[in-house]
Amino acid sequence: MRLDRYLSEATELTRSQAKRVLRLEEVTVNGEPVKDGARQVSDEDDIRWQEEPITRVGWRYLMMHKPVGVECSLRPTHYPSVMELIEIPQRERLHPVGRLDVETSGLLLITDDGQWTHRVTSPNRACLKRYRATLEAPLSDNVARRLKKRFEAGIVLQGEEQATRPATFERLADHEVVIGVTEGRYHQVRRMTAAVGLSIVTLHRESIGALSLDADLEPGECRFLTAEEIASF
Ligand code: URA
Repeated sequence: MRLDRYLSEATELTRSQAKRVLRLEEVTVNGEPVKDGARQVSDEDDIRWQEEPITRVGWRYLMMHKPVGVECSLRPTHYPSVMELIEIPQRERLHPVGRLDVETSGLLLITDDGQWTHRVTSPNRACLKRYRATLEAPLSDNVARRLKKRFEAGIVLQGEEQATRPATFERLADHEVVIGVTEGRYHQVRRMTAAVGLSIVTLHRESIGALSLDADLEPGECRFLTAEEIASF
């Protein structure tokens, strides 16, 4: 790849800043100063900026068990950002793939690969996200059957005109249901449940597509995805 691109991928430098440090002869490739941003380099070359070796980390893909009480925004307003829980180099390059509310816990994907984010979140792909909700009041089997049909038919949310896409609704216990949606509308699950008169106590995302949250990841913990998991989207 071009040296200027390599520099901007491996450091905080933008492409034009990378060109500038090249002009200033601050970059060496295998010990030789190089000014030409078009010079082809690879991860095997010894590339240094102001004598510090720089290496491209490549795209990173993580799953996190998001705890409640953190915001998924990169510029949080009221709570700490979920990104502060991540302790890996160049964490500022990473972003959450979609969002969970402050009060929602569970599976959150995090990456620095924007194209992958687009694949996971694109409405055209209709990737199923499953949420386990605990309910304030017990839910009978009978009512759950009716609600299942309403979720399958789609629900018109307050302030919107178009009904939600067909969603799944499964009763697990008196106070527990699992809801599956393929869209990412604002507060979608909370608004869908509110629209049918259910009051939610906790909301936890269990899975996105074929990928489920690891049972042994504690709230706040992350792990890298496997190649197979990354390719599943
Ligand atoms: N739907 C919600 O209402 N909240 C979330 O965090 C995710 C989906």
